[in-house]
Amino acid sequence: MVHDIRPFALGLPKAELHLHLEGTLEPEMMLRLARRNGIDLPYQNVDQALAAYEFSDLQSFLDLYYAGCAALVTEDDFYDLTWAYLMRAAQENICHVEPFFDPQTHTERGVRFGTVVTGILRALEDGEERFGITSRLILALLRDRPADSALHTLEHAHRYGRHIAGVGLDSAELGHPPEKFAEVFETARMMGYRVVAHAGEEGPPSYITGALDILGAERIDHGIRCLEDPVLVKRLARDRVPLTVCPLSNVRLRVVRSLAAHPLKQMMDAGLTVTINSDDPAYFGGYLTDNYVAAAEALHLGPHELARLAEASFDASFLDADAKDQHVYAVQQYAKRHGIPLS
Ligand SMILES: [Zn+2]
Repeated sequence: MVHDIRPFALGLPKAELHLHLEGTLEPEMMLRLARRNGIDLPYQNVDQALAAYEFSDLQSFLDLYYAGCAALVTEDDFYDLTWAYLMRAAQENICHVEPFFDPQTHTERGVRFGTVVTGILRALEDGEERFGITSRLILALLRDRPADSALHTLEHAHRYGRHIAGVGLDSAELGHPPEKFAEVFETARMMGYRVVAHAGEEGPPSYITGALDILGAERIDHGIRCLEDPVLVKRLARDRVPLTVCPLSNVRLRVVRSLAAHPLKQMMDAGLTVTINSDDPAYFGGYLTDNYVAAAEALHLGPHELARLAEASFDASFLDADAKDQHVYAVQQYAKRHGIPLS
């Protein structure tokens, strides 16, 4: 029997599919890297940085997020950032990650694409060797920048071939519908990338439909506003389109009123393929296990439901069928050891 949900959630084998590496930049590391690189930040100490962490919406968060990114300059900075996340992932039994990185945020400041991606890839390789954590890296394009800039970024990425598995779309959603990136994503698909897109976080359900039909997204990041369109919900359920939901992020960015009012359970009940993720954990008050636990407590999810969510996290990943089966089996064995039959 499971008496305490936190140790159960912590040990549960999990995959994380919606995680921005830049969003794992803790204030301590932000200040340390800024000092190392001689960069002036608007904060002198951790308390001042933390004071800026009260967000009113997505844009107010993005302003802080981009300010913090200024501290990231060298290949070692990107290595350290990624490595810190992987060490935490190992402690939380996260066995597979598909992290995003935002190259435009860095190339616009004069940091080379190769510096960013080489540092990240080196850490991901070390993470697999040291902790056995597998990964598929996803290049995220900023939707509030011109489509031309996205195309240019894709050209850079081409040099890294199979080391970058997918292309996504993130940043400020409202006013930047998927249509703007139709050509970019057609190019990405032709280049052989898997495709995901943020949609239906602050944007309307039509952005989710657009992400599927116009961008060819295989997976929707957030997608919680799909519930406003019953026809779309039926389609997402029928086609088993995974939705990478981020409960603590949605509360911090005031996309939902409170965790108790979060639609996660409703989405599960509607037969949607839902996974739990942390989005930008350094900014939103919790990493992956925190999101599992907070959702469980607020929405009265039991260990059985958490194990189902963990299974879905592997099923919705870009791993091959054999690897997915192995991970799902591990989840089932873990649940069984805790007295929770899954089948
Ligand atoms: Zn996100």
